[in-house]
Amino acid sequence: MSAPPTSCGSNLQLGSVSGSQGHSTDRDCRRFTLVPAPPGRTAGRRKGTRWISPSPGGGVPVATGLHAIGHLVCTTNPTLGRGLALALSGAADLADTVGEYPADPAAQALALDRLTGAHVVPFYQDQAAIDAARLAMMRHTVFGAPSPPPPAETPGRVTYPQLRAAASWDPAAFRAFWKINGMICPPDQVYTDPEVVACTRETLRRHGAAPPVAQPTREQLLTALTR
Ligand SMILES: Cc1cc2nc3c(=O)[nH]c(=O)nc-3n(C[C@H](O)[C@H](O)[C@H](O)COP(=O)(O)OP(=O)(O)OC[C@H]3O[C@@H](n4cnc5c(N)ncnc54)[C@H](O)[C@@H]3O)c2cc1C
Repeated sequence: MSAPPTSCGSNLQLGSVSGSQGHSTDRDCRRFTLVPAPPGRTAGRRKGTRWISPSPGGGVPVATGLHAIGHLVCTTNPTLGRGLALALSGAADLADTVGEYPADPAAQALALDRLTGAHVVPFYQDQAAIDAARLAMMRHTVFGAPSPPPPAETPGRVTYPQLRAAASWDPAAFRAFWKINGMICPPDQVYTDPEVVACTRETLRRHGAAPPVAQPTREQLLTALTR
């Protein structure tokens, strides 16, 4: 991974591993101590979608003999229930990596970093984008913040909210939506699938993006909750 993944804003948390030795690929984690992220690398809350880069500087592993999987790599908002799948895919990638490079700790670190970039980062970035859009809408609805602008239309690509709205009406969009939620393939593969794009656009044109079932008002909800 060359560039750090995006985060949903306020809850990015970067960790680092440091020691008294200079940078070299033959580092041994037993000589190093985990230290707090430096100023500017930490942005507040620890809950929610966050990312810890295994090689923050890019290229050279921070430490060898120390592999990050599961929550040590990132946590994601529970709304899409991705934590277990990401942790298990990390465990499988770690087993493959150690099997492939049993005696080369630096190669292990770089290989696992690549696999994390392929198998974890796309879902992390997807969740961060979904969270950011949802948070902006909630801030608008609950706190009266400015209404978030509608997502820019990208040719040949639909968004998660568009797909979610279309999934209530169209079977192809429904299957595509659950492919993403079930983590069957990288989200972008679904968002840019020409058939998915066509059926989602057509469905939204015919039915709009509002939920198909009438939603209760705030007053109705409060009444139901205090009954
Ligand atoms: C209530 C709840 C509901 C959830 N529901 C879902 C869901 O429906 N779907 C989903 O995908 N995800 C769900 N998750 C998230 C999911 O459980 C996590 O994303 C996943 O377990 C992360 O795996 P992990 O291996 O990184 O960490 P963990 O599962 O937390 O494993 C870390 C392990 O390390 C151990 N440990 C910690 N410190 C030390 C130490 N110093 N020495 C030795 N051992 C140590 C801990 O005891 C623990 O066993 C849920 C989480 C919670 C809390």
